[in-house]
Amino acid sequence: MRTRFAPSPTGYLHLGHAFSALTVWDVARAQGGDVLLRVEDFDSQRCKPTYEAAIMEDLAWLGLDWPEPMRRVSDHLADYDAVLDDLGDRGLLYPCSCTRGEIRRAGGAPGWDGVVYPGTCRHRALSDARPTDALRLNLTHAIETAGPLPAIRETGPLFHGAHPVDPHDIIAQIGDPVLRRKDTGDPAYHLVVTHDDAVQEITHVVRGADLWRATFLHVVIQTLMDWPTPLYHHHDLIRDAQGTRLAKIDQSKAIRAYREEGQEAAEVRRLVEFPAASPVTPSAS
Ligand code: GLU
Repeated sequence: MRTRFAPSPTGYLHLGHAFSALTVWDVARAQGGDVLLRVEDFDSQRCKPTYEAAIMEDLAWLGLDWPEPMRRVSDHLADYDAVLDDLGDRGLLYPCSCTRGEIRRAGGAPGWDGVVYPGTCRHRALSDARPTDALRLNLTHAIETAGPLPAIRETGPLFHGAHPVDPHDIIAQIGDPVLRRKDTGDPAYHLVVTHDDAVQEITHVVRGADLWRATFLHVVIQTLMDWPTPLYHHHDLIRDAQGTRLAKIDQSKAIRAYREEGQEAAEVRRLVEFPAASPVTPSAS
């Protein structure tokens, strides 16, 4: 069993991240597995080396460890370009210059994660791409090419069980995703995360429930690229040891603020930790 913690260094770790990290390490320890650290610094505008250093310091302060070297996404940019070249050669990508405003005005339908891209640039040839264009995956074509999609096998208590991936649903609810971002040329999250889970041979992805819907798209990319689909565990909001939602504490308070106030790491653990390997009891309130 091998999992990973994959923070983006766009700010300091806060209590919500501490909960997520502790859950990842708890699930791994309960199964005798390993946790790899992956710094997902693919957003060249927002990620900062000082945040990366701070994240590693905070994780160590919480008593969490990982094998060295950790993986830093920005050290591997050529790998994501190689995947984009491959998808491009297979006729699955197209350039897109649409702004958010243009997409809204074109009347995209509401989906799981905001407006679904209405396909304005879908007719464009990749050979006409400008360096500032985004590259989008033609999802309909990608699903046809991928063939049968495996079900998502979810082991966490929130969505426990096998979830078939319905192609019609994801085409309607997600639409053609951006895999290379406009202007900066940064690789997009969906490309980075599926590629790196495969390269790092992750058998079990443990992460927040906010990424549950994205998993349906990740299965398409994995199948298309012949990468294995790991097991998943999407955890809920932070809870205390009794399984009660911690609605009253500030989830966005930086972990280092606790340290600077002279708190012990054990206190932060106490605030957010729960026995992740056993099912979470829904709050009575
Ligand atoms: N880098 C992502 C985040 O900080 C996590 C991605 C993942 O675990 O799949 O939200």
